[in-house]
Amino acid sequence: MEVRGEYIMYKLKNFTEDMVEDLLDEILQKDNEVCKCEKCRMDIKALALNSLPSRYVVTERGEVFKKAEQFYRQSEVDIMAAILEAVSKVREKPQH
Ligand SMILES: [Zn+2]
Repeated sequence: MEVRGEYIMYKLKNFTEDMVEDLLDEILQKDNEVCKCEKCRMDIKALALNSLPSRYVVTERGEVFKKAEQFYRQSEVDIMAAILEAVSKVREKPQH
């Protein structure tokens, strides 16, 4: 499909991943003990995402998904708990 000379690009987006990314920053800022190198950060993210359900949606590039806020409210507690558990595992045994 072509609109005004620009191709619409559809993207598959996992909202759980976006939320983990956002909340991870918040949690890591408050945690002075866990290592924050890129490897440990990725490990925390992977551990948290593996324990959470994926929430895929199809979006147009640049589109802000309207239900994101609703999803965020429903899932924040679960996502926060999964990240905190992942952080404590990496804190005990960093893999870097
Ligand atoms: Zn590290």
